[in-house]
Amino acid sequence: EAKRRGRNTWQGFNPQLARGLSDRLMIESQLRRALDNGEFRLEYQPTIDLATGRAVAAEALLRWNNRQLGELGPAQFVSHAENSGDIVRIGAWVIREACRQLREWRARGIDLARIAVNVSYRQFLNESLVDTVRAALRESALDGAALELEMTERVLIDDVPDTFETFAALRQTGVALTIDDFGEGYSALNYLRRLPIDGIKISHTFMQGIPGNRADSAICEAIVRMARSLGLNVTGEGVETEAQRQFLVGQGTPLAQGFLFSRPLAPARFAEFFDAWNRRRH
Ligand code: C2E
Ligand code: MG
Ligand code: MG
Ligand code: MG
Repeated sequence: EAKRRGRNTWQGFNPQLARGLSDRLMIESQLRRALDNGEFRLEYQPTIDLATGRAVAAEALLRWNNRQLGELGPAQFVSHAENSGDIVRIGAWVIREACRQLREWRARGIDLARIAVNVSYRQFLNESLVDTVRAALRESALDGAALELEMTERVLIDDVPDTFETFAALRQTGVALTIDDFGEGYSALNYLRRLPIDGIKISHTFMQGIPGNRADSAICEAIVRMARSLGLNVTGEGVETEAQRQFLVGQGTPLAQGFLFSRPLAPARFAEFFDAWNRRRH
């Protein structure tokens, strides 16, 4: 824009840009105190076993309620927390809180196999992650198998020498390691055989075109077939329609998540959903 108007024309105050910048500074300064102020909470979305139709697990999704900024979803603030480094502390809280919640639910007879949390690449690269996971499991007296860590392919592109060691150390705690948004990112498949990964979640971007779009259907089909022959668990994400569910069942996809089953829910609502859903005949 400035360039088009001539090379040396300094545009001066750009309200658009200034607003973007002040929003950013505002978010970053509010984020710094948000944890201590108790402004975060988690919602939970069920994972459905497609063979039985039952809800078997849950994914914790972070929400931020700030007095000035209102209610924000992770798309609006996680990248800021990554830039500032706050995501390491916030992410540790997410892991602890999800474990605590699972413990509480199990004590009340809500029989969830595991709880999944999203882990940012910045957390993954921080040496505290393994200790954080161990402490959270210990605090809530949970087996490693009760926790699943979801990471995007972003953790793989830095190819730092520690990547393999971090995966191995996490694996030693017994937690399940899953690649989230599979297929959206860097698509180097090599890591699937090098790293101790338990599962992948097919990016919702492929689900949108199912069953009408042939390319999306073919990609989903190929991902499910590959994952199953590698012995990996597969979850179809973003399932919104019955046709999409049937497509995944037809491919033998073990697990699914999406608005068709339930939106992410506050803990009390999740408990209600879980009881009602699993009492139904599937
Ligand atoms: P994700 O882990 O892939 O989570 C799925 C996102 O899709 C969630 O959005 C969920 O609400 C939404 N979703 C689920 N089912 C459907 C559906 O059927 N249709 C549509 N259109 N959307 C669906 P949300 O909660 O806004 O989270 C967005 C992303 O933010 C997550 O993607 C994850 O990458 C990140 N995130 C969430 N919580 C955390 C966290 O605690 N830590 C970190 N580092 N990232 C998080
Ligand atoms: Mg996820
Ligand atoms: Mg995803
Ligand atoms: Mg997800």
